[in-house]
Amino acid sequence: MANKTQEDGGIHFPFPFTPYSIQKDFMAELYRVLDAGKIGIFESPTGTGKSLSLICGALSWLRDFEQKKHQEEARLLETGTVPLSDRKDQPPFLSSSFKETPDTLRPAGEPDWVTQFVQKKEERDLVDRLKEEQVRRKKREERLQQIRHNAQLKYAAKRMRREEEEMERLLHLSREMLAEGTGTEPLEQLECGDEELVLAEYESDEEKGAARGVDEEEEEEDLEEEHITKIYYCSRTHSQLAQFVHEVQRSPFGKDTRLVSLGSRQNLCINEDVKNLGSAQLINDRCMEMQRSKHEKSRAEDEKPKRRRQEHQAACPFYSYEQLQLLRDEVLVGVKDIEQLVSLGKEARACPYYGSRFAIPAAQLVVLPYQMLLHGATRQAAGIRLQGQVVVIDEAHNLIDTITGIYSAEVSGSQFCQAHSQLLQYMERYGKRLKAKNLMYIKQLLYLLEQFVTVLGGNIKQNPNTQSLSQTGTELKTINDFLFQSQIDNINLFKVRRYCEKSMVSRKLFGFTERYGTVLASSREQSRLAGFQHFLQSLQPALTETPVPHGDEGEARVPRSASPLMHIEGFLAALTTANQDGRVILNRQGSLSQSSLKFLLLNPAVHFAQVVKECRAVVIAGGTMQPVSDFREQLLACAGVEAERVVEFSCGHVIPPDNILPLVICSGPSSQQLEFTYQKRELPQMMDETGRILYNLCNVVPGGVVCFFPSYEYQRQVHAHWDKSGLLARLAVRKKIFQEPKRANQVEQVLLEYSRCIKCCGHVGGTVTGALLLSVVGGKMSEGINFSDDLGRCVVMVGMPYPNIKSPELQEKMAYLDQTLPRIPGQAPPGKALVENLCMKAVNQSIGRAIRHQKDFASIVLLDQRYARPPILGKLPAWIRDRVEVKATFGPAFAAMRKFHRERPGPS
Ligand code: SF4
Repeated sequence: MANKTQEDGGIHFPFPFTPYSIQKDFMAELYRVLDAGKIGIFESPTGTGKSLSLICGALSWLRDFEQKKHQEEARLLETGTVPLSDRKDQPPFLSSSFKETPDTLRPAGEPDWVTQFVQKKEERDLVDRLKEEQVRRKKREERLQQIRHNAQLKYAAKRMRREEEEMERLLHLSREMLAEGTGTEPLEQLECGDEELVLAEYESDEEKGAARGVDEEEEEEDLEEEHITKIYYCSRTHSQLAQFVHEVQRSPFGKDTRLVSLGSRQNLCINEDVKNLGSAQLINDRCMEMQRSKHEKSRAEDEKPKRRRQEHQAACPFYSYEQLQLLRDEVLVGVKDIEQLVSLGKEARACPYYGSRFAIPAAQLVVLPYQMLLHGATRQAAGIRLQGQVVVIDEAHNLIDTITGIYSAEVSGSQFCQAHSQLLQYMERYGKRLKAKNLMYIKQLLYLLEQFVTVLGGNIKQNPNTQSLSQTGTELKTINDFLFQSQIDNINLFKVRRYCEKSMVSRKLFGFTERYGTVLASSREQSRLAGFQHFLQSLQPALTETPVPHGDEGEARVPRSASPLMHIEGFLAALTTANQDGRVILNRQGSLSQSSLKFLLLNPAVHFAQVVKECRAVVIAGGTMQPVSDFREQLLACAGVEAERVVEFSCGHVIPPDNILPLVICSGPSSQQLEFTYQKRELPQMMDETGRILYNLCNVVPGGVVCFFPSYEYQRQVHAHWDKSGLLARLAVRKKIFQEPKRANQVEQVLLEYSRCIKCCGHVGGTVTGALLLSVVGGKMSEGINFSDDLGRCVVMVGMPYPNIKSPELQEKMAYLDQTLPRIPGQAPPGKALVENLCMKAVNQSIGRAIRHQKDFASIVLLDQRYARPPILGKLPAWIRDRVEVKATFGPAFAAMRKFHRERPGPS
């Protein structure tokens, strides 16, 4: 592939071929957004080479940025002056510590000589600080060079495993406590290894503040590798990320970009014994246990062992500094996806999970999944720092829902009961050994769990499967009302949350349950829990009564769900959200086990605010970003981003304009007005008219026709009606009919048969000219599936897929937006706009399944006169909106369809 260098406004954009003008525009706008530190919303339809434009645009900017930075640094060191008169042009890469004093702080009317003096002093200070930073960085580089990354790696490891060290420290304390015989039971009564399950003495952060040496922190900071300016690119799925990495490899930047792919331990672990544990939780726990064990071992070598019975689990053979150092360098040398990283790790016998993380500071491009970037705690744990960095969020059409989902939490009645029982038994066993603070918090947790069940109308002491609730239905509460109603408003949930995090009580409980199952209750407890025990065991079939020998675990065990308390911690954390930003939904079904408490996040912007605040620039990109008002208002304005910082860019399609025929059809062949409201759409005449339209379209469209219905239920009704009326039989003369399957595992099979049928028809001839696929908006075929070429020559949208306005969650969200966002004159109120936007987002996703590349063509038919309203048309992607034709009657619409498809080649 020949590399071309494109120039736009003096900027060089290396590109693998001569780019289309829309690609040039995309790169130029992206460059401007990154350079000016803006927030960009970029829309570029599938098939227009969005990834390549993102790569070449963003990496060209990074190249120039680094170059300018080096030049500027060299100039400063040479001249030793910073002309403050040029301060408005002050290089944007200067770190926040170089920000000058704002003019506004200077008293008005001060004499000139004072101003000059202050200015001179500022200049000198700035130069001094710049020099200091230069010297510090140089020194650090030399030192790091000298110690050949070993110390650096140790410190990086230390930083990343700070959490694990905290656990280790607590564990150590608890061992000392046990060794000193603080409990009334002698140590010998504990099972071997039990000491690891006992909670250590708990101190809050304030209490232990003085304990940690400041020097230690400073030294660590000093030696920590600098995070250079980089681009964090995230997408939804691993296959999208892998695709992106392959695009980078093929791009002109593929040879010399330092790219790191980040993934979970589940994806990257190469220790077969650990990987075979299956679930992410078990893999994480075992890996961390192994690292801890390594620390224990080295500590044991330093200190005289206090106990002889201490057991050590083998450290992971793939976690050694030397091997990781080699792997880290290898990672940075060439662009690799997750699979290549795993192979490399296996070859080098070094862990790719840690190897890739250690490579973050020096990387230029970090590729990672959504969750890792958008979830604050995960981001921190992964060693990601966003200060001054660039973030690109791709496939972002569902970004608001994604953030909402990440921070929402639902816990069932069963989970509350299960956690309560486990914790109670834990306390029974170790209560006498736990210090007062631990006991206090455990009792608080037990109380909270009991109250959560009570507020649902159940009893924590009985089997949730057999408890039927007298009151059923859904109730929605503000956070404060919920806390009040549950009678937990006097508990400081921030402290409980912090305790859970720091003490790692859920991890210990998980270990305890793994070790003993849930059959360790005292005789008093056991008699109380009769029957309940059976329920608990039925929930955890893999739990055993006796400790499982460590060596046997690997193959024998199947993945298990994580500890219920771990899950509940997410709910507790959610309850600390500000009252106005979330709601609690009490969902009471027939039995307690089926009932649940759900936290609904109303304001995802609270979690996005940190990203936009810390980053230098953020780009939100996708194939269909319309309607963008949601992003602007719900996400960015609510996160405190000024409107001027937001830039929108929407590029056309690479297909010639004549390759698309989008039509809005307002009435059918028998002049029936098309309006598929809830009231009208079930009328037989509406279903008949829809059938007639489809029959006509199938007569003129070759290959595949994909028809979307607003819901499964409506699709089922229409199908049954057509079956009865004989329309299905008439349709079958032209198209073989397929229906979207209910089960996800059948999707592939249906798609295979659908495409096979279309291919066969293309060759065999006969009356059947292709296939008709009846699908559902928001279903399994409406996202991520590619109906290119003959698979989708026509996409039909029956009605407008408005979300269920009666849903309490949606109503609450609408009310929230109406209260929070300003009403713009001449526009729908924010709540109503949300409903329209959700509907049009779903439409855009579905119709975007067709036309996937430059030579593709298709017709798009929107059946409902409500589509003709300008505010609705305005929410279609620009490349469709610009071509859309509104047809009041069916005749002209049908004529346009016939002409469009007759002039184009039939199935290949
Ligand atoms: S260090 Fe790496 S290879 Fe070893 S168990 Fe942990 S994730 Fe797996």
